[in-house]
Amino acid sequence: MTTVEFRTAGALEDAEKWTAHNYHPLPVVVASGEGAWVTDVDGRRYLDCLAGYSALNFGHRHPGLIAAAHAQLDRITLTSRAFVHDRFAEFCQGLAELCGKDLVLPMNTGAEAVETAIKVARKWGYRVKGVPDGQAEIIVAAGNFHGRTTTIVSFSTDPDAHADFGPYTPGFVVVPYGDPAALAAAITPNTVAVLLEPIQGEAGVLVPPAGYFGEVRELCTLQNVLLIADEIQSGLGRTGRTFAIEHENVTPDMYVLGKALGGGIVPVSAVAADRDVLGVLKPGEHGSTFGGNPLACAVGAEVVALLRTGEFQERSAALGERLISGLEALIGEGVVAVRGRGLWAGVDIDPALMTGRQACERLAARGILAKDTHGSTIRLAPPLVITEADLDHALTEFAAVLAGN
Ligand SMILES: *Cc1c(COP(=O)(O)O)cnc(C)c1O
Repeated sequence: MTTVEFRTAGALEDAEKWTAHNYHPLPVVVASGEGAWVTDVDGRRYLDCLAGYSALNFGHRHPGLIAAAHAQLDRITLTSRAFVHDRFAEFCQGLAELCGKDLVLPMNTGAEAVETAIKVARKWGYRVKGVPDGQAEIIVAAGNFHGRTTTIVSFSTDPDAHADFGPYTPGFVVVPYGDPAALAAAITPNTVAVLLEPIQGEAGVLVPPAGYFGEVRELCTLQNVLLIADEIQSGLGRTGRTFAIEHENVTPDMYVLGKALGGGIVPVSAVAADRDVLGVLKPGEHGSTFGGNPLACAVGAEVVALLRTGEFQERSAALGERLISGLEALIGEGVVAVRGRGLWAGVDIDPALMTGRQACERLAARGILAKDTHGSTIRLAPPLVITEADLDHALTEFAAVLAGN
């Protein structure tokens, strides 16, 4: 074993020895990154086609984001919300305008933003809609992924995420994804919200049937139910638009955002909604020590500024077509089905050939980082800053792995 290989092996062994095994990472130990590329502890370079599950939409260490973070590190990083700081309103106004909503409530992780949306919807249900106390129902979809808190895993249909973590939080009703009739049948006078991903990422980049969200929107409006779009993974440029739900010409009542909102630097999440919804919260009813901290706001404001240019959405749309058509060309060559929008694809490979995990291991050996989900599906979501040449390189390597090379 060379010294070079020793670094990776040792780091993997240490991680295995000292940490809980709640992940099964690929055997790659990353030491640095720039743009769409990372370098491991042994100097090997990899093209990052996962992009932190879309937390790295702008790539590793985007110069504008790093500059914003550096500048803020030299001023002030944390105040708590007991005081107001001078980056707070700037970030919240920018994000509210990007969403076309009146108000923003910043949190840190995606799961916290989903929890925030659930609390707001319940309180709105009791105080505005007039649902009897303790009776609020929220409709969610089978195959959902909204995070890992005990309440959120209560309504997960993935046994790995759900089993052994009860007792479960009541008040959630699960319906099939993409089926408006099932949703209509599940709405009761106590329904306060429908919580959906515009595209289900963890489930395998499942794009709902055309017109689904239009019908959901209509039902929600008719029945006085809030439509909450979890755009944590699908939003902020990933699908070629600022929000994935824009493809459906639908405006939700609440956006839930996270991942790329932190620019790949700090955890930043938020809920955005109009005053009649988000205005139900009064002082003391919800909060977070780190939510909306100065460093988060400085980075988040720069993320909003990048998205305001429209450049990343355009790149995602254009390169996304190249990605999807490149993958569709592999149907019959080891690929069974391709789904996606923008620079975001779920690829089902022939299970007789290899598992998704094996494909990702072979891709990693060839310098491409991707992640399997649910058996034989591979998710490709490179940073939106990836070049056309690098994207073609990833497709070539993907074809080579499927060909058994
Ligand atoms: C990642 C994700 C979450 C949870 O975000 P965390 O920051 O990991 O808590 C919620 N919803 C969706 C759609 C996600 O992709």
